[in-house]
Order: sequence, then structure tokens, then C-alpha cells
Amino acid sequence: MSLKNKVALITGGSTGIGKAIATKLASMGVDIVINYFVGPEEANQVALELAQKYNVKTKALHADVSNFESSSNLIDEVLKEFGTLNIVVNNAGITDDALILRMNENQFDRVINTNLKGVFNISKHSARPLLKSGYGRIINIASVIGEYGNVGQVNYAAAKAGVIGITKTLAKELASRKVTVNAIAPGFIETQMTKNLPEQVRAEMLKYIALGSYGQPEDIANVVAFLASEEASYITGVVIDVDGGLTI
Ligand code: NAP
Repeated sequence: MSLKNKVALITGGSTGIGKAIATKLASMGVDIVINYFVGPEEANQVALELAQKYNVKTKALHADVSNFESSSNLIDEVLKEFGTLNIVVNNAGITDDALILRMNENQFDRVINTNLKGVFNISKHSARPLLKSGYGRIINIASVIGEYGNVGQVNYAAAKAGVIGITKTLAKELASRKVTVNAIAPGFIETQMTKNLPEQVRAEMLKYIALGSYGQPEDIANVVAFLASEEASYITGVVIDVDGGLTI
């Protein structure tokens, strides 16, 4: 699967799942834009490493995906620097868990603004360039929580369910120019996001994963690579669970 000379933007691309996606796509010859929010050093380091290792063009660009203007500026910068945009991976996301009796308005809004509105903001500003590019893909990182719910995550579940709604709608809206829009719903993947969960919660979760181990960021990146490829050109509007059998 080669995607040489295609340009990909990965939001939240310097850590965890986003970093694995950036690495996998770079290994396929894709030029990479790593979007970051708070960590310029980490993002610049990843961009440099990928450029050196895979001989592709890379750039780390700051943006707050929850902000409409900042997202617009990001896409403008990508186009100025790379001339086109082919693959958008909406990966940036946060958690801020609490049972509904304790969750405050700010916790709800923050997660919705980053995880749901962020996907709208980036998709909205990249839709035109993707339609024009002649080869367009949007891949949204949702979550099994958006399909099945989870105690303490009413904000996160609502946002990720919304991402699935955006995915199916944009799949219909952008299909006439062969831009495909799909989502991946990861289960429990070992990243910073899950590292800080109490050991008891992690151990309990493991009992329900049929394959008997936590997922790795590369497990998600491999599916992104497939959805980004020519081989997946007849797949649009789907949600692929990558969860080791957690939700069987
Ligand atoms: P992570 O390592 O914490 O990565 C989250 C990324 O999002 C960071 O790179 C962060 O960038 C970026 N980000 C946060 N707020 C942002 C904003 N306002 N604007 C731009 N970027 C922002 O966690 P992860 O596990 O890799 O998560 C990646 C995605 O997978 C998320 O959408 C998450 O919901 C989803 N997911 C994860 C799991 C799992 O088990 N880990 C399961 C299901 C779904 P900075 O570091 O620069 O702030």
C-alpha cells in the first residue's frame, strides 16, 4: 500500500494513537502534518524523526481543534505549506470523567468542544480542499464508548456518538467526489489516556477483552492505513470496532 505524495493531517498527532498513525502513514510515503495543542517540542521531534526515517515532508503545526478560527488557520497553513490535502485523521481527544451527579457544565462542554466540535471544525475547513484534491479521505477516531456507553463518561460517550453521526452524514455529503468518510472505534488502547486509570479498573477491563490483552496504538494505525488506501475506496460511512473483542 503506497500513498506516495499524498498529504495527511493528523490532529493530536504527536502522542499515543495519533503518533502511531503519523508513523504508519509516513512509512507508506505520505507527507505528514502533525497537529499539536500544548506540546511543540514533542510534535517537532516526531516530525523531524519521521522526515529523516521515511524521507517524507513533515511539519508540526499548532491549533486548538475546539476553536473554529484556529482550525481554519490550521487548514490554511497546511495548504500554504503543502499545496493540497488528501487525508484528514480527526484523532485529537480528551477525557474528563465523572458520574452525572458530580459532572459540572464545564467538564461536559470541554469534552464536547474538543471531541465533537473539533471534528466538525476540522472537517468543515478541510472539506473543500479534500473535494478539490482528487483523492480525499476523512478518518475519525471515535470510540466503542460512543456506541455502547460507559459509566462516568456521559460527556465522552455523547461526543463520540456524535462523531459517528458526523461520519455517516459526511460520507453521504462528500460521496459524489469519491471522498470517503469512515470512523474507527477503538476499545482499550494503551496510551497516556488509559495509563492513569486505577489498576483495578484496568484489570477489570481486561477480563472482558476476548483476545486477552490491551490494544496498542499500532492496532489502530493499521486500520487507518487501510482506510486511507486505494484498496478501501469502496468503503464509506462505516464504523470499524478495533477492540480485541471487548464488545462481543
Ligand atoms: P492521548 O495520547 O492523550 O492523545 C490525545 C491527543 O489529542 C494529544 O496529542 C493532544 O495534543 C491532542 N489534543 C487534545 N486536545 C486538543 C485540542 N484542543 N486541539 C488539538 N489537539 C488536542 O490519547 P490517545 O489515547 O492517543 O487518544 C487519541 C484518540 O483516540 C482520542 O480521540 C481518544 O478519544 C481516542 N480513543 C482512545 C482510546 C484509548 O483507549 N486510548 C479508546 C478509544 C478512543 P497535545 O498533547 O499537544 O495537547
